[in-house]
Amino acid sequence: MSVIVLVEHTAGTIKKKSLEAVQYASEIAKKLGTTATAVIAGKVEETELKNLGGYGAQKVLYVADDRLNELHARAFTRVLVAAAKQENSPIIVALHDVNGRAIAPRVAIQLKAGLISGALSYPDTDKGFIVKKSAFSGKAFAFVNVNSDVKVILLAPNSFPLVKADGEAVIENFNVSFEDKDFGIKVKSVDVITGEVPLSDAELVVSGGRGMKGPENWGLIEDLAHALGAATACSRPVADSGWRPHHEHVGQTGGTIRPNLYIAAGISGAIQHLAGVSGSKTIVVINKDPEAPFFKAANYGIVGDVMEVLPRLTEAVKKF
Ligand code: FAD
Repeated sequence: MSVIVLVEHTAGTIKKKSLEAVQYASEIAKKLGTTATAVIAGKVEETELKNLGGYGAQKVLYVADDRLNELHARAFTRVLVAAAKQENSPIIVALHDVNGRAIAPRVAIQLKAGLISGALSYPDTDKGFIVKKSAFSGKAFAFVNVNSDVKVILLAPNSFPLVKADGEAVIENFNVSFEDKDFGIKVKSVDVITGEVPLSDAELVVSGGRGMKGPENWGLIEDLAHALGAATACSRPVADSGWRPHHEHVGQTGGTIRPNLYIAAGISGAIQHLAGVSGSKTIVVINKDPEAPFFKAANYGIVGDVMEVLPRLTEAVKKF
């Protein structure tokens, strides 16, 4: 018996948030008196795979199939279901992200498992199997109890600090036979988004809203992001207006991020925006309107004009 965790990578480099998922699975495994097994597919170097041992995976089931460098939900479902059956897994962990949300429900159906999405805590097993998750777009917490024999948990990224220990995982090549229909969706081209830090993995994010007035002022956001080593994001109207690409838009209809620091410049703080960022550890809001709703969600607020405040913040950061 082993707790299974799906590990994601980008061009062979394991995503930081997946290391957190491995650590999470391994802590649950310890609690159950068992081990954690990582499942990874695509093209990944041996050293990256062994490295998972430092985050608590004793074994890695590796599916060396280049087709799985891309998200093919059916194929990944097949991999996870086969791994869960082989390992007799009571719990399957994946990330609460685009990939996890595409794969986990399919896995849950096939294994007749209960599914917890957006998990923020370790399961409390004293009175059942209770996990804390966010609800109502981050306005409340829900404590859900799952009583199925097999459970699938989607972990909200950036919920736990990463701690690396010594240790190497044992790699086992895992063969899964696929069918053509598992690869029914063909990827025609992939746009590699260049930038200093990918938004989904970023610990620091500088984000702009309509208060930035236009794309010509985005240099102010980028300068602060560059000084901090942060990723950039934006509100939805900014992306809708074509000032910024849509992959930067966060909120209910965009990405969900949980960075350590989220700086919101000229963003009102509508509930749909907060839905994507309210899990941030520290929120700094810059807005010229002291009544802007975002201040209620902020840890630090600056009432002022972004055109003046942003350059001064950037200069201050550069001095450190
Ligand atoms: P505005 O609401 O126009 O706010 C601009 C802010 O900038 C104001 O608070 C103003 O005081 C301030 N400002 C102006 N000039 C300056 C200045 N010089 N210096 C400092 N501050 C200044 N929105 C999202 O962001 N993400 C989503 O995923 C999303 N999904 C949605 C889904 C649905 C179904 C719906 C109905 C809406 C959704 N929205 C989403 C839109 C959301 O409701 C808001 O309209 C949007 O977030 C507002 O964007 P904003 O704060 O950039 O612009």
